[in-house]
Amino acid sequence: MRFINLLIMSGIIATGTVSAQESNPFFTDWTTPFGVPPFDKVENSHYLPAFEEGIRRQQAEIDAITSNKAVPDFNNTILVLDNSGCLLDKVSAVFGGLNGANTNKEMQDLARKISPLTTKHNDDINLNPALFARVRLVYNTREKAGLTALQKRLVEETYKGFVRGGANLPAEKQARLRELNKEISMLQITFGQNLLAETNAYKLVISSRNDLAGLPDGAIAAAAETANADSATRGKWVFTLQNPSVMPFLQFAENRNLRKNIFEAYTSRGNNNNDKDNKALISKLVALRLEKAKLMGFSSYAAFVLDDRMAKTPENVYNLLNQVWTPALARAKNEEADLQLMMNTSGGKDQLEGYDWRYYSEKVMKQRYDLDEEVLKPYFKLENVRDGIFYVANKLYGITFSEVKDAPVYFPGVTLWECKDADGSHLGVLYMDFHPRASKRGGAWCGSYRPQSYANGKRVAPVMTIVCNFSAPAGGKPALLTADETETFFHEFGHALAGLLKNVKYKGLSGVPRDFVELPSQIMEHWVFEPEVLKVYAKNYETGEVIPQVLVEKIVKSGKYGQGFKTTEYLAASYLDMNYHTLKDTTPLVVLAFEKKSMERIGLLSQIPPRYRSTYFQHSMTGGYTAGYYSYIWAEMLDADAYQAFKETGNIFDRSTAKKFRKCILEAGGSDEAMNLYVDFRGHEPKIDALLENRGLK
Ligand SMILES: [Zn+2]
Repeated sequence: MRFINLLIMSGIIATGTVSAQESNPFFTDWTTPFGVPPFDKVENSHYLPAFEEGIRRQQAEIDAITSNKAVPDFNNTILVLDNSGCLLDKVSAVFGGLNGANTNKEMQDLARKISPLTTKHNDDINLNPALFARVRLVYNTREKAGLTALQKRLVEETYKGFVRGGANLPAEKQARLRELNKEISMLQITFGQNLLAETNAYKLVISSRNDLAGLPDGAIAAAAETANADSATRGKWVFTLQNPSVMPFLQFAENRNLRKNIFEAYTSRGNNNNDKDNKALISKLVALRLEKAKLMGFSSYAAFVLDDRMAKTPENVYNLLNQVWTPALARAKNEEADLQLMMNTSGGKDQLEGYDWRYYSEKVMKQRYDLDEEVLKPYFKLENVRDGIFYVANKLYGITFSEVKDAPVYFPGVTLWECKDADGSHLGVLYMDFHPRASKRGGAWCGSYRPQSYANGKRVAPVMTIVCNFSAPAGGKPALLTADETETFFHEFGHALAGLLKNVKYKGLSGVPRDFVELPSQIMEHWVFEPEVLKVYAKNYETGEVIPQVLVEKIVKSGKYGQGFKTTEYLAASYLDMNYHTLKDTTPLVVLAFEKKSMERIGLLSQIPPRYRSTYFQHSMTGGYTAGYYSYIWAEMLDADAYQAFKETGNIFDRSTAKKFRKCILEAGGSDEAMNLYVDFRGHEPKIDALLENRGLK
């Protein structure tokens, strides 16, 4: 998962006093190493004045464009607009990044204050008739203006951005659009804040050692440390709804009642009929999004969103989901039978339930492949995995990473890395923030504190960040990652790589469609468990011994195990997201009934909840992946096919293929249509075969 600081903002009047500006780091040049944000100097009180001033300055830049008497052209309109909003970009990136990774009550309140300002500013730009008139004129004359291909694309993308922002609508519809944007963005913020509160609200407190039976030492030690952090639970064990805590519990704890307890808490987040309940909010949000889509002339919100994506239409998305769903469901049914059998033969008489799935799945895996996650973990020390990732990046692109020790960080333990090109030139820096805490939202993502750009003809190097929720060091042992966490690390690093290597001249061409953005991340996952890569980084943290060949073989052999569960839980959430956003009727829906019906329609097994149920479906509800959760499987069609390009050369580190991938995909950003970029790299459009093959669904 990924967040991008892409709030395009603008228009409020209010300026801080000069002296307040002098002490506010957002109004100064940053003299930190590589110009990273001076996290040690940023205080909550600095944000609002910087947002207000940033908005004021960009509005002034816009006013200068519209009051220009010269005939509109690329330089005096499109380019000036593209370069505008520097201060706002600066503060938005820091606020957005930290509000996700290390929030607090004050920042959450600020987010609610800032959102209406930035939403209004964004609308003030998109719905500015004088500005749009100039943009439209440049657009209409673009063919004869002697522009380069890249300039022409910037004109087209800028124009499209205005149209999609409502510039062509009549005044009364624009007024309604402003209200809708404001309400939608506030509901999205509330959804995320409710979810964080609900995730933090639950604790499973265990007082008796018997109730820990089955759990590995690492999970027990981590639970003891969590308990000891609070005087009320000192000496006991506490499990939380953060993934590194709840997942091992569901996988290993013998006590079925306790598994049921934590599973139900996990799957009920946002659905507890309290003041953090998300059901009514979803119903309202979905209706408002649909109203907005209709205002824009589309039949559904998904149709509006997808018009600007690689997939183009809801039909194309459903087609892909359906193609994978049928074999995945068949596989999940086989797995269910295996697990039920395992449950019965190990003494359980009951029907297999959702809180049994991971537990018996672990047992079947052990029986069938003689593979135990706990045996693997010592080989996946976080630092070793990180070095393995650097190794892969180096073998492919010749780039190197070294730690920057003297830079400010926003939380102890966060590290910063400089990325250099093969010739030693600076490419950018990368923050890494690994472990869960109450101030961090769930999941893993990549973002930037300063995206790559150009200023005065020179490349401005990016400041990237990856934020994860991986198992922390516990019980005197270093952080040891699970196979899933290891894969996630490679994934987020892939996003970071796309940010670090990016070399795009214009801000307006920096972003890529949501269903293309997962290609650079997901392709990295293909190297994780390649035997020749494992041999480099998977070393026992105590002895340094390289992972034994027999374990490598077991990893490779068991790679397709559990794909029925993994694929159906993912696809189920994708269907749910699409179903909400292909609604054509604004009658408020009953969320739980809608969810249930959606799952019945595809025949999802009762023991498998969608990976995210509606009330904690952050991707779909907070805006980033709305009508876009399908993007992972869409991009998998691309990454599976793209990885074949390496395989076909007989060398997974083939330098000429890597060079092409870097040039066509990683450096290019949004300089061309995504499919054109892909075909440039691969020579043909992607095929679905490699995806099905990799998941063992063919
Ligand atoms: Zn991702």
